[in-house]
Amino acid sequence: MTKAYPFEPEEAPPEYRGIPRIDPVLCIGCGACANACPPNAILRIDDPENGTRRIVLDVGRCIRCARCEEVCPTGAVRLTAEFEAATDDRNDHVEIVELRLARCRGCGKYTCYTERQVEKVLSLIPRGILDFDRVREKLPLCSECKLKLTVLNATKFGEVEP
Ligand code: SF4
Ligand code: SF4
Repeated sequence: MTKAYPFEPEEAPPEYRGIPRIDPVLCIGCGACANACPPNAILRIDDPENGTRRIVLDVGRCIRCARCEEVCPTGAVRLTAEFEAATDDRNDHVEIVELRLARCRGCGKYTCYTERQVEKVLSLIPRGILDFDRVREKLPLCSECKLKLTVLNATKFGEVEP
């Protein structure tokens, strides 16, 4: 049957893998989608000076494999039914989500975790098993402060009573 598309709108079938979209409210900036994306259509870009992380999705590079959707821990990235990607402006293909990096509880420098990642981790800690307030006080630490704490704990552990 001949269709009048593009003069009349056409809907994609329900199982169609269309353009991926990232929900900026649900995204915690973990970068799992960037790690899983075969053609590197998603990048995780940190700016430790200004304390920001950007998740950048280039729809023009996307092969619609849906790996990003499979690995996203919050359901933030989804393949939609949208299929009309033609444009004369390259910028139309780029989606950017910008998030704040969390500061280290030890030294105050920006860590490699976003504030939303820290909140997500805290929300997963079962109450009553750990001292929640104490854990919250310690999270997050930058890699240098984590190393210092590990060495300190190892030194204490190695101490032998006279
Ligand atoms: S659908 Fe596949 S190629 Fe496209 S952004 Fe997701 S992981 Fe990358
Ligand atoms: S996997 Fe999901 S939550 Fe993590 S950066 Fe990608 S879209 Fe955001």
